[in-house]
Amino acid sequence: MVSTVTLDKLVSLCKRRGFIFQTADIYGGLNGVYDAGPLGTLMKSNVRALWQQSLQRLDKDIVFIDGALLGPETMWKASGHLESFHDPLVECKSCNSRFRADDVDLARACPRCGKTDWTDVREFHLMFKTQLGASVEQSSVAYLRPETAQSVFVNFKNVWTTSRVKIPFGIAQIGKAFRNEITPKQFLFRMREFEQMELEWFCTEATAREFFDFWATERTSFYKSIGVNQTHIRLRSHEKEELSHYSTATSDVEYEFPFGWKELEGIAYRGCYDLSQHAQHSKKDLAVFDEETKESYTPHVIECSVGVDRLFLTLLFNAYCEEAVEGEVRTVLRLHPSVAPIKAAFLPLVNKLAEPCERIYAEFKKCGISVQFDVSGSIGKRYRRQDEIGTPYCFTYDFESAETGTVTVRHRDSMKQERIAINSIASYITHTSPFLTPCPH
Ligand code: ATP
Repeated sequence: MVSTVTLDKLVSLCKRRGFIFQTADIYGGLNGVYDAGPLGTLMKSNVRALWQQSLQRLDKDIVFIDGALLGPETMWKASGHLESFHDPLVECKSCNSRFRADDVDLARACPRCGKTDWTDVREFHLMFKTQLGASVEQSSVAYLRPETAQSVFVNFKNVWTTSRVKIPFGIAQIGKAFRNEITPKQFLFRMREFEQMELEWFCTEATAREFFDFWATERTSFYKSIGVNQTHIRLRSHEKEELSHYSTATSDVEYEFPFGWKELEGIAYRGCYDLSQHAQHSKKDLAVFDEETKESYTPHVIECSVGVDRLFLTLLFNAYCEEAVEGEVRTVLRLHPSVAPIKAAFLPLVNKLAEPCERIYAEFKKCGISVQFDVSGSIGKRYRRQDEIGTPYCFTYDFESAETGTVTVRHRDSMKQERIAINSIASYITHTSPFLTPCPH
């Protein structure tokens, strides 16, 4: 390792190699909003697939929904967001810069202009409000969702009555959320438009603590399974003062970013707060009937919530590495193969070997596997290009290949090369895909 990873290095790599672009950058960008480029799109879909599979693989009943981004004002009133989804805001009277009050020390000078002249702290509402259609009536007011969870709660009875699920069970969802963050920062860490992967686990009150512990363990081990370095990950229980008013227990899975230990995923015991609120405000019965006790009750909820983009950033930090190789600096993304956007590259040693090499590449491409074929530049440069985007394997077709039916495989992390049979390439690639799993016999 020649130097440590910094946020600037990651931002630069993301832009240079087509992982992430600033939204509308030709117009100067939009603060806190980003687009995924070709490699970022592939990697994000791997992240989503791995999360979904980590839930589907369990011996638990978990169904998935895909809720709308817009919700009526009545719904956000019931959930408590209308009243309490805000952050404390202060403004520097001298330069008019605005900050989250807990991000700056008000006893000290403004970090932008150096003067100490702050306004009082006031609450800044984080939801994006809009009006549906041409009507100006209050009933046409809608908000972009600031979390995906509420789509699950308002659909609880729909799922319950249509899906033959029984308590305990989960409803999970992947989708966009929007927060008008006062100071979006640290690239994908705090954005205004982002994506969440959330599981709401419905259970009885008596089993809730046990399930809370189960999910805390399960979710932490998920990160291990996708290659997150265990020394950079920890589970931290919230102190009493940190808990939301509806939560009696919350633990964060935290990652050690270069800017400190920060929340990656929140695991919260939400009691029966959400369903009770929606039942009360909508005047609909959201309770379930227990066949054994012959009583109705409102299920309790454990929530596991992680941002796709924050996990994406975590995986990049976790993988980024610079090392000295033959007097040069090699940048390599040591991504877990299941997360890597490109699973393998097919490289003819020289131009005139392109055709047979491309035929092998095409076979894998036809199967829907994201592979690349690259013929331009020296073989060393092509290896480096693949290292930088985290491709686990490079298969090189050389002068021996036609005669012996072999290629060389170069391993990204060790840079070791070995000669293998062309018909064994598949066995290398199969385990890199988050979508392919061996079938039971
Ligand atoms: P914070 O305290 O950092 O504002 P939070 O506790 O409000 O976060 P949650 O509401 O628990 O965050 O959101 C669940 C998950 O969604 C977070 O753990 C994070 O992974 C992701 N997330 C939340 N806000 C953002 C954001 N502005 N940008 C990117 N990801 C986010």
